Amino acid sequence: MKATCWTGRNSVDVLDVPDPKILNASDAIIRVSSTTICGSDLHLYDGYIPTMKKGDILGHEFMGEVVEVGPAVRKLKVGDRVVVPFPIACGQCWACRHELYSVCENSNPNAGLAEKFMGHSTAGIFGYSHMLGGYAGGQAEYARVPFADVGPIKVEDDLTDEQVLFLSDILPTGYMGADNCDITPGDTVAVWGAGPVGQFAAASAYLLGAERVIVIDRFPARLDRTREHTGAETINYEEADTLKALRDMTAGRGPDACIEAVGMESHHPTGPVNAYDRTKQATRTETDRPHALREAILACRNGGTVSTLGVYGGLVDKFPMGSLMNRSLTLRAGQCHVQHYLRPLLDRIRKGDIDPSFVVSHHMPLAEAPKGYEMFKNKRGETNKIVLHP
Ligand code: NAD
Ligand code: ZN
Ligand code: ZN
Repeated sequence: MKATCWTGRNSVDVLDVPDPKILNASDAIIRVSSTTICGSDLHLYDGYIPTMKKGDILGHEFMGEVVEVGPAVRKLKVGDRVVVPFPIACGQCWACRHELYSVCENSNPNAGLAEKFMGHSTAGIFGYSHMLGGYAGGQAEYARVPFADVGPIKVEDDLTDEQVLFLSDILPTGYMGADNCDITPGDTVAVWGAGPVGQFAAASAYLLGAERVIVIDRFPARLDRTREHTGAETINYEEADTLKALRDMTAGRGPDACIEAVGMESHHPTGPVNAYDRTKQATRTETDRPHALREAILACRNGGTVSTLGVYGGLVDKFPMGSLMNRSLTLRAGQCHVQHYLRPLLDRIRKGDIDPSFVVSHHMPLAEAPKGYEMFKNKRGETNKIVLHP
């Protein structure tokens, strides 16, 4: 089959690889109908997530048709149309029983490696490094899905791929980012990053009762899309000082909650902090550039919540712990516990509370994945979210 493979820093190729096979009784094989490129894939593409190997199959956001099931699979059958959550979860362990699916204790065969980096392991994730399980991803014609009775959700044919595909990751992720803010009526929520994740975080903050949502980025096309489809106000940080603008917009108090949807490759307007982070990241003395996270902490009102969705690889520097501690802030974070949100969000899509397809800017055949990665990385023109069709 054809699959999008990581072939080194800034390089992916669509290559011929062996078809996946059922390895465990609870596996299913999916023929992928739609898959997408995520900001998290860019961290792999850019070479910042350790333990990638040349030839690894990328992709953790995908959906399609079940073409084979292992003998222990009870809930799925051949022909079912399913969306697959990106964290691989067993459904049985302590974490899964507490609905903390992205930290499942049974799905990462390389847990020892993750423990070295992080103290404890997380769940395995499709197409997301050997430290997170070494699983083949779904930017391919077919994918093997372990624990097939736990993750995939069946979807009816009257909903389009574009409407349900983002249940695999970024819609639940944006929703969890807002859910972690414990929003109460009247709240103002600020969101760093007008990428697809930030856009869904903004839309979700309104769904959960925020009165005002303010989204920060520098790409006009993304800010326009965000205003048009979520109703949020926006700040272009190349035209205004974000911290000052947020203070002015909230009568000096700061937003009640700040969602950071940028992650480890945060852009920084030029200046000494930018040079510091870039040098440290390039020399591997700091793994992540956390500018947006620092800003989210400094901006948040006293006693408020900072909710981090952006992915981090390891260690950040110049972290404003004094601000966090002295001002009674709460910091929440996590890879999304997608399985927890699937059913309620599918219901919301069906009811018309949200139509996630607004994030899509491009459709491409899988063969054009290398071009898609380049466009998505550089945010060319209108590029917002690219759907690949194997
Ligand atoms: P993306 O690259 O499309 O969007 C990121 C946006 O952040 C860009 O528009 C960029 O211009 C903006 N940005 C960069 N520096 C900024 C700054 N200093 N201030 C404000 N905005 C800034 O990526 P995406 O797909 O939207 O993903 C965003 C982040 O969410 C990534 O780190 C990704 O890995 C992470 N993510 C996390 C989860 C999870 O489960 N927690 C799931 C999916 C994605
Ligand atoms: Zn993703
Ligand atoms: Zn588990």
